[in-house]
Amino acid sequence: MTSLISERIANIRASLPPSVRLIAVSKKVSTELMREAYSAGIRDFGESRIQEATSKQAELRDLPDIIWHFIGHLQSNKAKKALELFDWIHSVDNLKIAQRLDTLAQQMGVSPKVCLQVKILPDLHKSGWTIPELLADLPTLNQCKNLQIQGLMTIPPLELKDEEILSVFHRTKELAEEINSQNCSLINIEHLSMGMSGDYQLAVSAGATMVRLGTILFGQRV
Ligand SMILES: *Cc1c(COP(=O)(O)O)cnc(C)c1O
Repeated sequence: MTSLISERIANIRASLPPSVRLIAVSKKVSTELMREAYSAGIRDFGESRIQEATSKQAELRDLPDIIWHFIGHLQSNKAKKALELFDWIHSVDNLKIAQRLDTLAQQMGVSPKVCLQVKILPDLHKSGWTIPELLADLPTLNQCKNLQIQGLMTIPPLELKDEEILSVFHRTKELAEEINSQNCSLINIEHLSMGMSGDYQLAVSAGATMVRLGTILFGQRV
C-alpha cells in the first residue's frame, strides 16, 4: 500500500543525489506519520524540542535503528538530555554550549556528532556564530575532545530572493573549506546541514550533504 507520505518521500529521494542524507523533520508530527515515513525508508528524524522527542522516542522504541537529529535551539539545562536522546546535534550555536556539551559528553562517555550553526547574514531571529566569531573560536572548539565536530548548519534569513539564498549556501561551503584548511586537528567539516522544504534544491546545488525537510514530507504543521 502506498501512502501520500511514502509517495512524497520516494519523489524527493529520487530527486536528490544519493549521497545527500534526507532528514525528516518530524516536530509536531504524530508518531503514526513517523512510522509511515519509517516504512518508506526514512531512518533519520529531526526534532527541535527535547520534551517532544522524549515521548516520541519512548513510543518508537521498537524502531531501534532510527538516527535522531536535534535541530532546535539548545538550552544549557537541556544539554544532558539532548546527549541522552540524540545522535547528532545540528544546532550547536555558541562556544559556551559547545563546552558544556563537551564536559557532559566526557562524563557520560559519549561522543556526539555535531554541527556548528552559522549565521552567514545578520538575522535577529536566529542564533549561531557569525563568520568572524566562528573563526576566532576555532582553536577553543578544537579542544572539545569529546565532540565530533563534523558539520556546519545554516538557515538563511526569511524572505531572501533565490539568488541571495544560494549565495548564503555557497558562502557556508566556502567557510567549511576555510575551517578545514586551518590546523584544527579535531575539526573536520564533512557535512553541510542546509536546506529546508522551501530551499533544499538550492542547498543541494551548493553542496548540502544533509537536508532537513518537514512540511514537504508531512504537510503543514498545525
Ligand atoms: C522546522 C525546521 C525544519 C523543517 O522546515 P520545513 O520548512 O518544514 O521543511 C528544518 N530545520 C530546522 C532547524 C527547523 O526548525
